[in-house]
Amino acid sequence: MTDLLWFRQDLRLDDNPALAAAIRRGGPVIPIFILDPKGDGDWPSGGAARWWLHHSLAALADALTARGSRLVLRRGAASEVLEDLIEQTGAAAILWNRRHEPASAERDAALQRDLKQRGIAAESFSGALLFEPKEIRTGAGTPFKVFTPFWRACMERGGIAEPHAAPKDMPVPRRWPHSDDLAGWKLLPTNPDWAGGLRQAWTPGEAGARKRLSAFLRQGLAGYETRRDRPDVDGSSALSPHLHWGEIGPRRIWQAVEHAAAEAPKLRSAAAYQRELGWREFAAHLLVARPELPAEPLDRRFADYPWETDRKALKAWQQGRTGYPIVDAGMRQLWQTGWMHNRVRMIAASFLIKDLRLHWRTGESWFWDTLVDADLANNAFNWQWVAGCGADAAPYFRIFNPVLQGEKFDPDGAYVRRFVSELSQLPQKWIHKPWQAPAAVLDEAGVTLGRTYPRPIVDHGDARRLALAAFEALPKSSPAPRGSSAPAAG
Ligand code: FAD
Repeated sequence: MTDLLWFRQDLRLDDNPALAAAIRRGGPVIPIFILDPKGDGDWPSGGAARWWLHHSLAALADALTARGSRLVLRRGAASEVLEDLIEQTGAAAILWNRRHEPASAERDAALQRDLKQRGIAAESFSGALLFEPKEIRTGAGTPFKVFTPFWRACMERGGIAEPHAAPKDMPVPRRWPHSDDLAGWKLLPTNPDWAGGLRQAWTPGEAGARKRLSAFLRQGLAGYETRRDRPDVDGSSALSPHLHWGEIGPRRIWQAVEHAAAEAPKLRSAAAYQRELGWREFAAHLLVARPELPAEPLDRRFADYPWETDRKALKAWQQGRTGYPIVDAGMRQLWQTGWMHNRVRMIAASFLIKDLRLHWRTGESWFWDTLVDADLANNAFNWQWVAGCGADAAPYFRIFNPVLQGEKFDPDGAYVRRFVSELSQLPQKWIHKPWQAPAAVLDEAGVTLGRTYPRPIVDHGDARRLALAAFEALPKSSPAPRGSSAPAAG
């Protein structure tokens, strides 16, 4: 009997539990991908994500072809497309790896019920995370809302399974159902083609993911703990888009890091890196417990925050023209490459929320549209974290000073020079505060403030005072969260 293997955010053959199960069942397997515009509810993929998806699907199709198989592409509501494919192929089972976004999870649960009622096996597997979000619970049986005890509970639970190797070949059906043409989906930008920087920066697909992991293990892991906060050096793994699209599974990364640690017992960075994977687990855990995470502050006091709505300020932030070099470098890195260093994400987000007092959701949606790793759980969780309204969040009153942050984490200004080329000739002393540089220095560096590079759009000291005053005016204690799924203290 033929089975359908439904690829979603698990665009890989290595350590793919649904694929391994399909092969174990012994019959022909038809790999499919459905472009379902309603899959993520209110969160259709942004432009950068669509670019990535195109290339990742092309890579997956090539990998399947190399094993004698194919990738069948269909567009439409998943339930209707599956119905059609079952009818055409007589499939007896559909297998997939679970996703945790609320709209996808709800759709999948309804599909599973419906298929089972009709006698079609519908089996889902755990491939996206190290720990299924609902399996990790406090002593009281509730979800966690604080990271450290959450991660401790994960580590005590242990038992991270060994990853499965990719199959060497695939059992194929005698007849293939029709497939759409990938180019016809028009996922790539044309007119204008703004993806030049993305093409230079990334190789979407499983092979690109493995290559990046190997390079990180060779060159990045040993210094990760000290270098991960430095945007001017390649100190982090840059695996986030590959992880988001499931081109590499977290178990494969975990195992590779464990092996590296076994070979070098003094490697402290291994645990530090694994802990970052833990934040990804925690964000998914929270999204499952609190499906409103992308849209509403978990700390309900912030529902009354008097957000500004200055469109000009928002545009300056989006375009990297705030007059604060570290913020502008980050926003331009995002626009050019579809990615931004984590430290700079925090600085740029803090600037939007606290210096400009624009709603964190405006930043969340800009990131959603421009990041190649845009991820519902990670994006929402981190925006709420910076805004101070999330779970285990940074306190609101901790406001990043963009000059000091720049001087600390980009000490020579190399990161700013790379992305804000109009400041490239400015001496290090002024690179993070050009408005304080003497006129002669600016002249010599070819900088005319207000013309070649903006003056700061707000004064950080004033903005900070206003932000703190707005925070002070909020109710002192948080009203009870809505719904019954509120996590207990972790
Ligand atoms: P590494 O330091 O190499 O870490 C390894 C992996 O751990 C990452 O690939 C990622 O999967 C995970 N990880 C690391 N830090 C975090 C974190 N803070 N939260 C959750 N997972 C983490 N990450 C996304 O994947 N998608 C997003 O949409 C996203 N939006 C963000 C928005 C804001 C405002 C902020 C402050 C952070 C956001 N992050 C997001 C988290 C983090 O910035 C990125 O995961 C990280 O920069 C990716 O780079 P890396 O792969 O080199 O990370």
